[in-house]
Amino acid sequence: MLIGVPAEINDGETRVAITPETAKKLIALGHTIRVQVGAGVAASVTDAAYVAIGAEVTDAAGAYAADIVLKVRCPLESEIGLARAGSVIVGMLNPFDADGLKRLAAAQLTSFSLEAAPRTSRAQSMDVLSSQANIAGYKAVIMASESYKRFFPMLMTAAGTVKAARVVVLGVGVAGLQAIATAKRLGAVIEASDVRPSVKEQVESLGGKFIEVAYETDEEREAAVGVGGYAKPMPASWLARQKIEVAKRVAQADVVITTALIPGRPAPELVSEEMVKSMKPGSVIVDLAAPQGGNCPLTEPGKVVVKHGVTLIGHTNVAALVAADASALYARNLFDFLKLIITKEGELKIDMEDDIVAACLMTQAGKVTRA
Ligand code: NAD
Repeated sequence: MLIGVPAEINDGETRVAITPETAKKLIALGHTIRVQVGAGVAASVTDAAYVAIGAEVTDAAGAYAADIVLKVRCPLESEIGLARAGSVIVGMLNPFDADGLKRLAAAQLTSFSLEAAPRTSRAQSMDVLSSQANIAGYKAVIMASESYKRFFPMLMTAAGTVKAARVVVLGVGVAGLQAIATAKRLGAVIEASDVRPSVKEQVESLGGKFIEVAYETDEEREAAVGVGGYAKPMPASWLARQKIEVAKRVAQADVVITTALIPGRPAPELVSEEMVKSMKPGSVIVDLAAPQGGNCPLTEPGKVVVKHGVTLIGHTNVAALVAADASALYARNLFDFLKLIITKEGELKIDMEDDIVAACLMTQAGKVTRA
């Protein structure tokens, strides 16, 4: 099959959907790979590196004139015009962007959005949310350490002792766990909160302390179980108790990293303006929920701002700041997904009996099929 990889043109997007490693594997399987000129440059991959493993380098039209187009982000309107009706697009197309999906359907594109894959063992190797959230969690700590004007580890020097930084992590999914692990490696003291009680053990195994908030009613206990591994909105009674506990920790924290998300909804508010005011000057908040509005109302998505003496980092595409590794992992996710829709004979086959294929299918035959 002819597989095309256009350059990403969304603002701030530095990742690329194929690397020489995955391109080489696809070529070995008999496919032809066309990559747009310069597509990998922001992710430290030169055109020459693609050519060296046998890929063709082409213009945007050439990359879109393929049987399967691999993307990082959903094509913009200007890009959709280049795509061939009936071709397949695979990427992080945003299953909650109804308008974007309608545009793909209207262009007669068969599209798969990998964010919609189930969180199962079989889907793990193509779990783009995990591969990218892991990177974001790491980078959040690195960004915080750059903004914070003090050390992370406790240091005992001839000139006196320096205290370890106190880091609070709110939301302990994939990004939160990596943030805890990274902050721990830098020597910080960590506390963390999540609505899902199953997370406690994971926090403790990484050397952090779990902020306990009791579940007092059946409604609270039931909501805390979530759905499909994801969080559900918690009852106001529990959130009020969580707020009291979180406020105490935030007031003492040097760094707060927030990652709390509920699929398809605005991010829950976890750090109020009052809490920000209670923080010491020079403290840092990294709000990884910024793309969904942020876990703090003072976060300005896409910006770094200082309010009440606290630096709020609201980057909306943190994984793209680690473009080379983010692309390497993402490209492997895509390669593993392609194995589900391309037969050994090299033919396209959309098997709706396969739960991963069915969950990821967004548009087909001019219709939005997303369940
Ligand atoms: P996410 O990005 O959707 O959300 C981040 C975290 O925010 C979650 O842990 C969520 O519980 C938490 N959260 C939501 N509201 C909150 C609130 N009010 N206060 C505090 N925390 C709040 O999560 P994710 O990283 O995508 O992980 C979602 C789930 O999927 C987790 O259970 C994870 O273990 C699971 N998972 C499973 C697999 C697999 O089995 N293949 C792979 C990756 C993740």
